[in-house]
Order: sequence, then structure tokens, then C-alpha cells
Amino acid sequence: MSRHQLDLVMCYKQPGTTVGKLCIKCDGKCPVCDSYVNPASKVRICDECSFGKNSGKCIICGNKGISDAYYCKECCKLEKDRDGCPRIINIGTARTDLFYEKKKQTNVTRNGAGIGF
Ligand SMILES: [Zn+2]
Ligand SMILES: [Zn+2]
Ligand SMILES: [Zn+2]
Repeated sequence: MSRHQLDLVMCYKQPGTTVGKLCIKCDGKCPVCDSYVNPASKVRICDECSFGKNSGKCIICGNKGISDAYYCKECCKLEKDRDGCPRIINIGTARTDLFYEKKKQTNVTRNGAGIGF
């Protein structure tokens, strides 16, 4: 299991022929392990992640893609490059959940003893 994906879920659908993109911020990063060294094989993403509003977007953060994404040597060795489309898909969902959680917590605080701001 990759350690940093606790609240981020990858797509993992059958990759097509489209090469995944990275933005200026994520440029050079392996989408699986965040390594910046030894890029080894090009990332392929699934059809769903390569068309429409997702097309040309960074597969990690959704910004404008500027360069091709590569799996690092290590991930190729571990065959992570065969897991499927590595695009992060639930950043939006996670954010919404977080907002909702915060709102709930605020209400609880208000109804309870209150912090006294
Ligand atoms: Zn890697
Ligand atoms: Zn995908
Ligand atoms: Zn990015």
C-alpha cells in the first residue's frame, strides 16, 4: 500500500493509450511514490481520465498539465505501473467531506460548552 494515499484514491481503471500529464508543480514526480528520481516508463491513463474536463490536466492535482508523467524505476520494478490508471480522483470529494466535517464540528461546539470566541 502506498503510504500517502490514505485520503486520496487513484482511478485504477484499465489504462488506454493517453499519456498522463503533470503540472508545473508536480513535474518530474512519480504519481505512485512521489519520487523525483529515475523516471522509467511513461504513465498511461484511462479513457475516462483523458477526455472532457480531465483532458490535459495534471493527474496528481488537476492543474494544467505541462509535461508527461513517468513512473519511477522502483515502481516499474514493483509493477505499480500495471495497477491501472494512476490519476487521483477524489480530491474534490475529500475536500467536500472535510468541509462538512468542519461544519458538523462547529455546530457541536456551539451546542456544547462553547469555546467562547
Ligand atoms: Zn515511483
Ligand atoms: Zn482513470
Ligand atoms: Zn500537479
